[in-house]
Amino acid sequence: MSSAGGIAAALERATSMGAEVWQCFVQSPRVWKAAVHEREALDSVAAASGPGGTPLFVHVSYLVNLASPDAEVAKRSSTSLAHQVEVATAAGASGIVLHPGSHRRSGLEKGLGAIADGVARVLDSLGSGCSLLLENTAGGGDTIGESIEQLGDLVRLCGDDPRIGICLDTQHLWAAGVDYSTMDGMEDFVGMLQHRLGGAKVGLVHLNDSKVPLGARSDRHENLGQGSVGLAALSVFMGHPYLAGAPAVLEVPGVDRAGPDRSDLELARTIVAEGKRMWAGG
Ligand SMILES: [Zn+2]
Repeated sequence: MSSAGGIAAALERATSMGAEVWQCFVQSPRVWKAAVHEREALDSVAAASGPGGTPLFVHVSYLVNLASPDAEVAKRSSTSLAHQVEVATAAGASGIVLHPGSHRRSGLEKGLGAIADGVARVLDSLGSGCSLLLENTAGGGDTIGESIEQLGDLVRLCGDDPRIGICLDTQHLWAAGVDYSTMDGMEDFVGMLQHRLGGAKVGLVHLNDSKVPLGARSDRHENLGQGSVGLAALSVFMGHPYLAGAPAVLEVPGVDRAGPDRSDLELARTIVAEGKRMWAGG
């Protein structure tokens, strides 16, 4: 959901299209400036997103880079993340999705350490039942989190804290070269998740097709069935029993680039149902 018009308006759009779970930003994703939220709006969103409601996932804005070697950027990132965690907690979020960051030529080891430190600083301000979900990235440049090994290293550096989980983005995985188009390929991938993530759970899936081919290392989302992944591969992914309990949200451009609508949601449900049928052997 776009957060245009405020977080309560975004919730309204999500529920009116029949969503069972939703995701939004709590400020414009490409600027540092924090948005102002009325206490009443946050309270009403928290009431609607709580038990029996429509769970909310908050995506942290894109400028936040805990791994930045630039002291100024690192400080801004830390302050901004703390603020966004505070707003997400007030809005009753079930999870907060964070791109690990980019080490900008300062080296992977250093970057991983800086991210773990940054994550540790906000963990105690998470609301109860809220987790911090590290998202896999499409790779390219010095971004961290393109492999499950790197995400697993991060989880370990964060002391295997139970509040830390993983968000898997189907487009990013595809662009990072993970071929889950066959059931064998998906089994291999799930085996790697089980081996590398320790106790960390997949708390959310970002269900998207890809504008770029397998292994292209570029973050370019496409509408379901209109990209290089295709509906069948997305079904193989979504139907795997390992992901059966994980909620999923769409981050597709939508028709006219207006974001996902009811028809995208229906297609997503068909993808999941078809995938479950495949894995059940039917
Ligand atoms: Zn994503």
